[in-house]
Amino acid sequence: MKVVPLISTGYDSNVYVLIGERVVVIDTGLSEESMRSRLRGVVEPEDVEVVINTHAHLDHCGGNSLFENAEVMLHELDAEAAKSGSFYGTASLFGAEGALKPGKLLREGDRIDLGEDVLEVVHTPGHTPGSICLYLRGRRALFTGDTLFAGGSFGRTDLQGGNMRQLAESVCRIAELGAEVLYPGHMETVRGEEARECAEVACQAARRLL
Ligand SMILES: [Zn+2]
Repeated sequence: MKVVPLISTGYDSNVYVLIGERVVVIDTGLSEESMRSRLRGVVEPEDVEVVINTHAHLDHCGGNSLFENAEVMLHELDAEAAKSGSFYGTASLFGAEGALKPGKLLREGDRIDLGEDVLEVVHTPGHTPGSICLYLRGRRALFTGDTLFAGGSFGRTDLQGGNMRQLAESVCRIAELGAEVLYPGHMETVRGEEARECAEVACQAARRLL
């Protein structure tokens, strides 16, 4: 299986396309238009079977409408914010509209079968109540959404539903996983020793803020 990172510019989120026996997209950016242009030359939208949103902020869900035939997966605690179209206030923040119809609601420990690989759902609340990371254990690679970024920075908790105490627990839990590749929701991929340090630095910094 191949992981194709589509790194964002501006407020848009990163998008990750997993191409193997099944084609899976993790997060869809700010809008259908931007999703369509970013996907060009990678895969056809019709070939995407599963869309997973790491959390219900509009800059991660706005392109979902491009994937009409895909099954949409989201943590159960973020489902209401997605269905209502409020996206915890980020719809008005970004001046955009949209609403999701999640097909499958995820929980801690769920396993998403990709054929030759499995994505494990790690519930990491704090940035939103239903924020998740997705772990490819065989590759020690973790898709961190807006929970953890390069350099040991982490997601904001001042939006609706944010909780700093939960976020601190979540980044410390990520540090314990010992992932060797981090694919964050914004900014570049982090690898090797830097990935381990990044999670450890974030854990210590987040705890200091409590
Ligand atoms: Zn977010």
